[in-house]
Amino acid sequence: MYKKLTLMIIIVFCMAVVQTAAAAGNHTALLGVNDHVSDIQPELIEGSYYMPVRDLAAVLSVQVAGTPDDIALTDANYTSITLKPPAGIMIKTDGSAIEIKLPVQSGKTLVPVALIAREFGYLVTYQAESRLLRLINAPGVQTDDIFVQQNQDAVVKNKEKNDRLDQEIEAERKIKAEEARKEKLKKEQEQKGQKGRKGQEQKDKPAKQPVYLSFDDGPTAHTDQLLDILNKYEAKATFFMLGNHIDTYSTSVKRLVQEGHQPALHGMTHIKSKFYLSPAAALQEMDADNEHLYRAAKVKSKLIRPPYGSKPYLVQSYRDKLISHGYHLWDWNVDSEDWKYKSNSKAVYNRVMNQVHALHKKGIKPIILFHDQAETLKVLPSVLAELKREGYSFELITPEMTPVNFWHDVR
Ligand SMILES: [Zn+2]
Repeated sequence: MYKKLTLMIIIVFCMAVVQTAAAAGNHTALLGVNDHVSDIQPELIEGSYYMPVRDLAAVLSVQVAGTPDDIALTDANYTSITLKPPAGIMIKTDGSAIEIKLPVQSGKTLVPVALIAREFGYLVTYQAESRLLRLINAPGVQTDDIFVQQNQDAVVKNKEKNDRLDQEIEAERKIKAEEARKEKLKKEQEQKGQKGRKGQEQKDKPAKQPVYLSFDDGPTAHTDQLLDILNKYEAKATFFMLGNHIDTYSTSVKRLVQEGHQPALHGMTHIKSKFYLSPAAALQEMDADNEHLYRAAKVKSKLIRPPYGSKPYLVQSYRDKLISHGYHLWDWNVDSEDWKYKSNSKAVYNRVMNQVHALHKKGIKPIILFHDQAETLKVLPSVLAELKREGYSFELITPEMTPVNFWHDVR
């Protein structure tokens, strides 16, 4: 009897914990360390899995020292990293520093599991289907499939919890979408009333003609500022993003999708020798990029732009491979060269305007290449203001459009 009662209490307690976690609104992964399941489940925060620093240190067999504002982690091989939560900085063994998000919840500092584990020499794998995050530093461990089989109960439990959360999120999204639709309708009706006056003012301006803004290599720490500028000029743009950056700046990715910009793919590594290793490697990078995009913003993209543009490396066999998987290849026809003239806004401005005007004369729609970088923010307002003044409207690249690329591959 006593035993039964204890068991009941435990079950009720567990249910309460599970519900609280779901209500808190974060997805969780099942954490496997070599061949063992951890009883701590990392939470998904802005595209990365997090857990309390002390729990992760225990899992990785790493010593913790310092203060909550200055945490030192050291392993037996003297690999040592320092975390500074107030500044959001991680300093590695070699002294280099990177920006990371280190949230504090209920007095515990949370740290990104994969990033930290890699620093201490762990191989990190993630199986999205079973939400299994594995940290491996021992030889001869189980394959993911066997690991999942052996820990079926834990996998299913975690999956059910996450499925419930997905349902809640989906329900909430539907409500919000409906609210947004009504709000938009209301605004349109209000604007209709003002159209009469505006029509007169715009009579002497040329008719709207499309121009397509595209930004490569993001998201970055500057994406939010970039979005603010685009908003100011009521401009929409297409972002060819790198999968690894998406994890770090997933909030900006969510925002750009919500604000009606077009998310698109630029691969994972941006390293020539890796991306163009084979058609399969190129496809794998785009698919992986798409997974990261989906995790961050719950959308996928069919639009791709390979690193450095598609010529000369993206030859027929590569294009066949990518296009047979539904992707559309996009290069550009206006190169701002903003990466080259970083300190020379005037040069970038002139290049863009001259090329846009030249294409316009030939009746070709301009596809402008910019980069998501600090320097571009300086020149962008003047470019947008002038294009707008000249009657251009900023449109999105879409999968339905005939692709513009250096190979004239219109598939
Ligand atoms: Zn690039």
